[in-house]
Amino acid sequence: MITMSIDEKLSLNTYKVYKENHIIVNKDKCIACIEKPCIYCCPTNTYSWENDDLIISFEGCVECGTCEIVCPYKKIRLTYPPLGHGIIYRYG
Ligand code: SF4
Ligand code: SF4
Repeated sequence: MITMSIDEKLSLNTYKVYKENHIIVNKDKCIACIEKPCIYCCPTNTYSWENDDLIISFEGCVECGTCEIVCPYKKIRLTYPPLGHGIIYRYG
């Protein structure tokens, strides 16, 4: 059986990127959030920390919902891109 890495699997997907961010983050707790699990749990590296700010590169989001669950302060709210936009899973 051939096994694929997460990165290899993700590379099979395509996106129709919508112009507006569908990930709403209230950042008022991010500096105090020591472990910043959103950064480490997102499979597509959507979040990064630069100059004391949480950067959200929403274009590659696969809409899995993990970040919303792991944020200890419940500061992330996911919406979805408009119909026909966002991730297009190769295998449904
Ligand atoms: S996990 Fe939540 S509070 Fe922590 S850095 Fe990410 S969005 Fe901010
Ligand atoms: S929904 Fe999933 S892919 Fe999108 S930002 Fe959150 S953890 Fe990352």
